[in-house]
Amino acid sequence: MVEKISKNFFLYLSKNKVLNKGAKKWGLKLGASQVVAGTTIHQVIKVVKGLNQKGLVCTVDHLGEFVMNPAEATEATDICVQTLEAIAVSGVNCNLSVKLTQLGLDIDRSLCVNNMLKILEVAKKTNNFVRIDMEDYSHYEQTLEILAELRQSYPNVGTVIQAYFYRAQDDLKNLKGVPLRLVKGAYKESGEVAYQNKEEIDENYLTIIKQHLLTGSYTAIASHDHVIIEKVKQFCKENNIPKTQFEFQMLYGFRADVQEEIVSQGYTMRVYVPFGKDWYGYFMRRLAERPQNVSFALRGLFSK
Ligand code: FAD
Repeated sequence: MVEKISKNFFLYLSKNKVLNKGAKKWGLKLGASQVVAGTTIHQVIKVVKGLNQKGLVCTVDHLGEFVMNPAEATEATDICVQTLEAIAVSGVNCNLSVKLTQLGLDIDRSLCVNNMLKILEVAKKTNNFVRIDMEDYSHYEQTLEILAELRQSYPNVGTVIQAYFYRAQDDLKNLKGVPLRLVKGAYKESGEVAYQNKEEIDENYLTIIKQHLLTGSYTAIASHDHVIIEKVKQFCKENNIPKTQFEFQMLYGFRADVQEEIVSQGYTMRVYVPFGKDWYGYFMRRLAERPQNVSFALRGLFSK
């Protein structure tokens, strides 16, 4: 009960426009620096280098979402392009994750697609991969449509499917061969479209992971849940699915010991490393997922 109230509270805070705006000016506060790798490209590349040295590969995300101003969407696009260039120049093992609402999806679909094309062209030239993070249900259909459009010219783009949606298994049928990240789902969604209880979400999560793996498609299993991770390892062993056909992913600052242990077992572990001034919504969603993470915020408050 307390957990549910806390989850809803942090999800509510994550959408608060005033706090989102204010946080951009504050710099990393409330302990956010434990899960956000700085505000500049230079800082994030440095963090990625350190993770690479431990055998972890990365994907970086320039934080920002629900942008309503074309200039901001263009600025975000430029930063994504510069990030891909910095990845290439520094030689780190790292790809890029983006959010379509940061690139202008809520302003104008064609602006957003054009911004994605600019990013994908640089990714192609630098031999890199771009993952479109999946946002809330109101953007779900459009994201899948845009992905299909982009993949006609750029095979170096993939997206994410969230296991809490009833439709996840059906959607996977149209995504055979597409490199997907599979997750449980981070947004607050209605019972009309999404499972609400953990057992059902976990069950559907394992089902879609197996479904995508069995089609031979490259699959990223993005979860901190050791029970799920162990079941996936077992399933892959039993079905002779090679370690080169899948990877595990976790967020920067979460379960670092488990991340390294998985690497030591010969699996690929990709760390999702967010950076940028727009850290507030991301940080609040992490607090919503796991109320224990509130200790990050409290420590942050008292250590300043
Ligand atoms: P949970 O269901 O939160 O936890 C299950 C169990 O795992 C817990 O009960 C606990 O035993 C253990 N556990 C979990 N976290 C910890 C911890 N920190 N320390 C110790 N034990 C722990 N969501 C989206 O909607 N769209 C996206 O594009 C998206 N991208 C993501 C990318 C990555 C790399 C990751 C890791 C997640 C992403 N998510 C995304 C978030 C995801 O949907 C979940 O909300 C989030 O990962 C929480 O679910 P979980 O599977 O990690 O485990």
